[in-house]
Amino acid sequence: MNPLDHIPEEIRRTASQCRHYAMCKIDYLDTGLCPPAKKTPFVSFFPQGRMDLCAALAKDRIPVTQAAADIISSCTLCGSCDRQCHFVTGMRPMKVMQALKAFLETFLEKGGVPVLIPEDDTLKALKQMVGEQWATNDPAHLMAYADDPFPLAGPQMPGYVVLPGSAEELVEIVRFADKAGIPAVVRGNGGSVFGFVFTPGIVIDVNRMKKILLDPDNWTAVIEPGVTSFELQKAASEKGFRVNTAEPAATVCGNIVCTGLFSTWANVYGVGADHIVDMTFVDRHGRVFNANDKTAPNVFGFQKAVRPSPGICLEARVRMHPVTDDEEGLLVPFTTFADAVSFARDISRRRIGLAVGILGGHYLSTFMSPTQSLAEQTREVFSGILEMTCVVSVIGDKYARSSIRQMVPCVIDSRTFRMFMLGLPQLVRSDLADIVQGLESDRPAYETVLSKEMLPVLEAVLSPSPETLAAAIEDDLRGFYQDLYRRPHMTDMVWLTMFRIVSARMSRHRHMFAFLIYVPLAPVAVIQELMASFADIAEKYGIEHDLGFITPLDLGKRGILEYDYYIDHTDSTDAEKIRLAMPEIETMVDQVSRSYKGVTFLKYIFSQGCARKENFLYT
Ligand SMILES: Cc1cc2nc3c(=O)[nH]c(=O)nc-3n(C[C@H](O)[C@H](O)[C@H](O)COP(=O)(O)OP(=O)(O)OC[C@H]3O[C@@H](n4cnc5c(N)ncnc54)[C@H](O)[C@@H]3O)c2cc1C
Ligand code: SF4
Repeated sequence: MNPLDHIPEEIRRTASQCRHYAMCKIDYLDTGLCPPAKKTPFVSFFPQGRMDLCAALAKDRIPVTQAAADIISSCTLCGSCDRQCHFVTGMRPMKVMQALKAFLETFLEKGGVPVLIPEDDTLKALKQMVGEQWATNDPAHLMAYADDPFPLAGPQMPGYVVLPGSAEELVEIVRFADKAGIPAVVRGNGGSVFGFVFTPGIVIDVNRMKKILLDPDNWTAVIEPGVTSFELQKAASEKGFRVNTAEPAATVCGNIVCTGLFSTWANVYGVGADHIVDMTFVDRHGRVFNANDKTAPNVFGFQKAVRPSPGICLEARVRMHPVTDDEEGLLVPFTTFADAVSFARDISRRRIGLAVGILGGHYLSTFMSPTQSLAEQTREVFSGILEMTCVVSVIGDKYARSSIRQMVPCVIDSRTFRMFMLGLPQLVRSDLADIVQGLESDRPAYETVLSKEMLPVLEAVLSPSPETLAAAIEDDLRGFYQDLYRRPHMTDMVWLTMFRIVSARMSRHRHMFAFLIYVPLAPVAVIQELMASFADIAEKYGIEHDLGFITPLDLGKRGILEYDYYIDHTDSTDAEKIRLAMPEIETMVDQVSRSYKGVTFLKYIFSQGCARKENFLYT
């Protein structure tokens, strides 16, 4: 038997569908991390890297090297990756891991000998700086750093990957690369998925630098560059604090430098420089500086142009925010988008609530549903039957929630949210449409259904429980999902909004291409114009598209709009559609930004994420 017969088309497809959002690098479901990757945190040892390795071997892009054999052999078939990946993408990477093992076994049985890649002087020098184990030029490792789902960049195989263990080692690498004229790029977890972390030279992976030092008395945390949002949020919340973080697998330092770090918490905690107490950088020539030094390069300034990064952040001191024990989440439903924007702006102006976000129908239903088909049906029920076109999600203390209840006719409170979430399979199966029709009210259907009288009826229809929810999952994972959803935090809007573990589900059916724009929240026509133009361009090229979310900023004066395109990144036709659409989008957003103050495309923020937000929000 040919070893490649163990990697049939279905396995190749799963392997190449990996979204590279690095969710398998954080222990977000308490399954434990991939055991070999925990010991050796090259991306190649994580399930994400193993998927790339499988795709590369299947296409004969790399030979079976010693590192490939080590990576494959180290898999314990523990199944953690299957649970983690299924939760966000619905994919089952275990079959890829099994295929890789069978492939290697047959390769060795047939007398195959893994190739040893010779070391050159650069690798020897890097190993001297970080230790034998932490630098490599083996293509089985390099592969995992060579590509992401962005269709307009890569693949770009690096020459070397190095994992420094300290700031001193990192600075030494930068100075060495500068002197030798070798390009080098720092990589957090590669979750920007825009081809930013590709280089033919040295990839500096900061995943060994994960120290967190909390200073609760001073409400700050000092972190190394490998610390992820999830890890910092967890550490801070154990001490009764919260940090403003976004995608859980993103490194906090990388996220601040790259996008300025925005989330629905940006409503109260801000973006960009608002997070930072101080940051230490090494510039590309190896000079180390603190952002707060009077003589340092000005990382807080902003220029509306694509600018180089100030350097590599070696350490950041960031703010922690206090949490009160009466915080809860609620959702305010709306029939029209304009009303939702106006409400979000109003509560932001009145300083009511903490995290605030306007969520489109796709976002909400995907966020809540454990499977794609359930998400699609849920959306139908929410918008088609209940007439909820969008919702404003708010996390607030009891005073904020009480104020909101006085402002709107009805809300989905935390108890009702939990009821919907745990009863979704029953909701989509129920005869809710008939019940709603029978009510004969001229108010939007959600108002009637969410009324005090109707909620007990709804609860009886949904019979919400971990078992009800898990019934939507395939047999062998059902027990896992039941246990998972017995944990109260899995249906707690505050926890879900803080840790954001479900937002990657937006890309469950295919890769999400997020366009982010800073916008004024009034007049709403500006946002509507942008959204209509995004929709027109997408329709022109046959690209699936939808509103993601909008978050108010600066007391509702500004906001961040995310509009999403969805593509199969492994399909060359889809890549071509994006290639054609991209210049039109850039021209369109630039045109709108010339007409309205406060419209700034995120592409201008990339690498200027430490800027004071006033420098790009009001200019
Ligand atoms: C599904 C999805 C949703 C997203 N939603 C959000 C969102 O809501 N809010 C948001 O802010 N972002 C969002 N992003 C973008 C993403 O989280 C950011 O790009 C983040 O920076 C990725 O972190 P990373 O550690 O993976 O960075 P990488 O992708 O590894 O790096 C990003 C950039 O930062 C540089 N970099 C990395 N580490 C450092 C460092 N220590 N010092 C200096 N530069 C560094 C890299 O060279 C690269 O240019 C989303 C991405 C995805 C895929
Ligand atoms: S099955 Fe293998 S790849 Fe998946 S988490 Fe376990 S050890 Fe890692």
